[in-house]
Amino acid sequence: MPGTNVCWCDSGKPADQCCEAIMSGRTPAPTAEALMRSRYSAFATANAAWLRDSWHPDTRPVDTSVDASVRWIGLKIAATSDGGADDETGTVEFIARCKRGGRAHRMHEISRFSRVNGRWVYVDGDVD
Ligand SMILES: [Zn+2]
Repeated sequence: MPGTNVCWCDSGKPADQCCEAIMSGRTPAPTAEALMRSRYSAFATANAAWLRDSWHPDTRPVDTSVDASVRWIGLKIAATSDGGADDETGTVEFIARCKRGGRAHRMHEISRFSRVNGRWVYVDGDVD
């Protein structure tokens, strides 16, 4: 069904009204959680350019390329704090699942976000 792809981030929304709109730069992420979801979708679609653009310039690695042998299969947001329309910083705790070489992995991270020129960006995170 063209045009009705459900978003990679498991939001249940069509991708073009969710992470695709954010990754393309068409829609700024309204919240830290929305930015985090778009970064998960960037991993799922090997979108290195969006990973770079959504990373804080002070913490961004030189190489943001994505390991295409990893298949991302699910995202669950465990908790959020701040990161809303009136906030300058926020955190998002999430569990992302992936498969690498046929084996399932689970990644649990608490990510920190802040705004640069009004736009949400990823700063860094603590991996469990
Ligand atoms: Zn999404």
